[in-house]
Amino acid sequence: MFSFFKKKPPGGPSASAPDAPQATNAGAPEDAGTAAGERERGAFGWLNADVGELLFGKKPADVVEPATPPPTVTASSAADGESGGERAGWLAKLKSGLQRTGSTIASAFVAAEINEALYEDLEVALLQSDAGADATIYLLEQLQARVTRSHVRDAAAARRLLATIVEELLQPLERPLVIGEHTPTVIMVVGVNGAGKTTSIGKLARHLLDSQQDVLLAAADTFRAAAREQLLTWAERAGSATSAARPSGRIEIVSQQGGDPAGVTFDAVVAGKARGSDVVLVDTAGRLATQIHLMEELKKIKRVIAKAEPGAPHEVLLVIDGNTGQNALAQVQAFDAALDLTGLVITKLDGTARGGVLAAIALWSRSRARPLPVYFVGVGETLADLETFRAREFAAALVG
Ligand code: GDP
Ligand code: GDP
Ligand code: MG
Repeated sequence: MFSFFKKKPPGGPSASAPDAPQATNAGAPEDAGTAAGERERGAFGWLNADVGELLFGKKPADVVEPATPPPTVTASSAADGESGGERAGWLAKLKSGLQRTGSTIASAFVAAEINEALYEDLEVALLQSDAGADATIYLLEQLQARVTRSHVRDAAAARRLLATIVEELLQPLERPLVIGEHTPTVIMVVGVNGAGKTTSIGKLARHLLDSQQDVLLAAADTFRAAAREQLLTWAERAGSATSAARPSGRIEIVSQQGGDPAGVTFDAVVAGKARGSDVVLVDTAGRLATQIHLMEELKKIKRVIAKAEPGAPHEVLLVIDGNTGQNALAQVQAFDAALDLTGLVITKLDGTARGGVLAAIALWSRSRARPLPVYFVGVGETLADLETFRAREFAAALVG
């Protein structure tokens, strides 16, 4: 189903449309070190393979390390034997982020035995973790049922049961983002102001470039004076992270400050098609789901993408700040109702995020026609701080 090889359009990128907005080539030299006309598209593994093989934990050996050293690996995350150093470092950040609130679920299990007090403490801890009423009730009921069924008596065993229950609840959200099924794969990115859309796009662009994907960024955040510059900065960082031995994909930006966001997006998708881009990432201006006219504008951008490329956008991703608390679920529901989301990115889980909201999202997701996957989680501000979501790791970090 996926192409691992792809023909370059002869003669390189075609000229831009006559009145297209500015396009900037910010990437590495095009086609460096490749056979004329055709370029191998090898390393798709992390994009398409099962999540276990994914992304940033397993980088090719010849890719230069980012300037920022990975954080110190704690004993708890080092215990994850299969992880590479980077993945373990990421887990450490996630764990310390989730624990910083002091509302750890683990503290409910300090008593030796299972009694009413344990369930009461756990209820408080789950609510404090932003799991919300529905997911808290669900998790408590599941735990009580399983404790009875498996005749568990000590609190430590009950905690392990809870970790399993949380993992099972989150499991349907663990799905890889697929690139390469469509050319270009058009990904529209939405969310409230400051959620981390542009940062996440920058991080994602880097990983796509490292896998020799040609990326076109559409700065449809046309209200923001520095939108293009912000993307450009990320693009340059992205380009420099790849070694000469392993040429980067090409990255370009389509922008038009003050222009019509739908118009910029339309031109970007058309340009992406003309230039044979693998991925078009559309960065949109932040907005609240309650701002009706701004949500209408997002719907328009989505319609215009479909006009430029039937079947697109292939992904509509909502970026959520992990510190948003219970309101995150309301955001997901509202953006989903307007745009029929295909996935989520949860950022800032390195801060004071409580993480329980993922349980709330997962429970709600069951009432949806299909689960809403969490493709990535962000745990910091550098390029390396974007990871694929793994239910087991997340459950372990949450339950402690
Ligand atoms: P946008 O308005 O949604 O495009 O948000 P930006 O991408 O501009 O990000 C807003 C702020 O959040 C910036 O200061 C980012 O550096 C920061 N940020 C984004 N993702 C993360 C993350 O995963 N962790 C932390 N700590 N900060 C992040
Ligand atoms: P509406 O006409 O405003 O209801 O919305 P459309 O869906 O027709 O188009 C929205 C925006 O997309 C327009 O304002 C244009 O900027 C852009 N657009 C749509 N179709 C085309 C097209 O064929 N060529 C170009 N260059 N832009 C288009
Ligand atoms: Mg932005």
